[in-house]
Amino acid sequence: MPFSNFGLGKEILRAIQKAGYARPTPVQTAAIPKVMQGHDLIAIAQTGTGKTAAFVLPMLHRISLGYRQGQSRVTKALILAPTRELAVQIMENIRSYGSGLPIRVAAIFGGVEEEAQIKSVHKGVDMIVATPGRLIDLIGRQKLDFSALEVLVLDEADRMLHMGFLPDIETIAGYLPKRRQTLMFSATFPKEVESLARRFQYQPKMVQIGSRSNAADTVTQCVYELPAHLKKEMLLELLRQPKFTRVLVFVRMKDGANRLTEFLQAAKVKVAKLHSSRSQEQRLKALQDFKDGKVQVLVATDIVARGIDIDGVSQVVNFDFPVNPEDYVHRIGRTGRAEAAGEAISFVPKGDLNLLDMTELSIGQRLERKRLRGFDYHATTPAPAAGEAPAKRDWRKRTREMDAKKAEKPKTRATKKPAAKRGKK
Ligand code: AMP
Repeated sequence: MPFSNFGLGKEILRAIQKAGYARPTPVQTAAIPKVMQGHDLIAIAQTGTGKTAAFVLPMLHRISLGYRQGQSRVTKALILAPTRELAVQIMENIRSYGSGLPIRVAAIFGGVEEEAQIKSVHKGVDMIVATPGRLIDLIGRQKLDFSALEVLVLDEADRMLHMGFLPDIETIAGYLPKRRQTLMFSATFPKEVESLARRFQYQPKMVQIGSRSNAADTVTQCVYELPAHLKKEMLLELLRQPKFTRVLVFVRMKDGANRLTEFLQAAKVKVAKLHSSRSQEQRLKALQDFKDGKVQVLVATDIVARGIDIDGVSQVVNFDFPVNPEDYVHRIGRTGRAEAAGEAISFVPKGDLNLLDMTELSIGQRLERKRLRGFDYHATTPAPAAGEAPAKRDWRKRTREMDAKKAEKPKTRATKKPAAKRGKK
């Protein structure tokens, strides 16, 4: 089915042509008609398969129809996303798909000055893309008016309905008109999330392309089982291969991201890092440098695991194996986007084998085990690379030491008195 069959306006069709899309992707084919008909929707499809356009195109159409009917500018659509980067990306998509229309969109997210955001909203916007925190703040201070809102979208919906975000989503929904269209899009949508989704939707239609825990099938996946202390060396070995051109490396903790980045810098690898303790400016610059090919490697926490669209990521490396299977699917979805081939490599030390089991069960696939020829899997702790700071102590060891210290203190106090008494005797 060509795009022209959906009944979208000609300005939108022109923008699609400009973007070079020959035909709709499966999720677009299935979702766009349902969104156009005004249904609530849950759409589950692999990452990188055009979900953004599946909700943005019908929304643009709806808003532009309103203008044709002489309506004035009011905020008709709110799109909620879990990270600032994803919010910015969705806004850019809206601007490009809506380039032929007089539509205004604003992004609202924390970490940057709010003045500019408030100003852009006050000029009048048709659509707002936001992360929940700053949005709630501005709603509470009555800076936003959603009384004419028609469509709410939760992108990465399962994450938005997760415990951490759910109270925020409930608060926000409380400020929106009850009669509205609510759309949920995600690559993963566990069964248990569906009942939570019902709180926000009315008789939703369901679109499911592939399985509920969609791993992109353009991505080849493999696992290296190795001792944890050799992961850095293994990464360095892999990065020396010419095919490792744009490599996204996921770690679990910010601290780990900092340490790994220092290690790679010392080994003369061009690298940027991205995690939540960095300023918004640093985060956007790291992402841009990676997109522009100024750095070979981006070391990141799960902050970029969802939704972010970066062209030509050659490999995703799970330096630390993700703690839950959904995160695995989202992380590896950063490569192999829009039908391009990609590779997902996971490092799995013994302690993480249970996580690997869980993930394999969830995606219904056993991942290929690989061995790197010539790599010394039995090396003891490697010598620090030139210029590398001495290895920091293992946090578990550090915690044990601190616990021991804490435990010591009351002991000395408790034992002192009797000792003094004994001395008096
Ligand atoms: P998304 O899943 O929305 O992040 O989109 C992933 C990538 O697919 C983006 O780079 C889009 O520009 C691209 N894309 C979206 N729709 C189509 C289409 N119909 N044909 C080709 N590429 C598309």
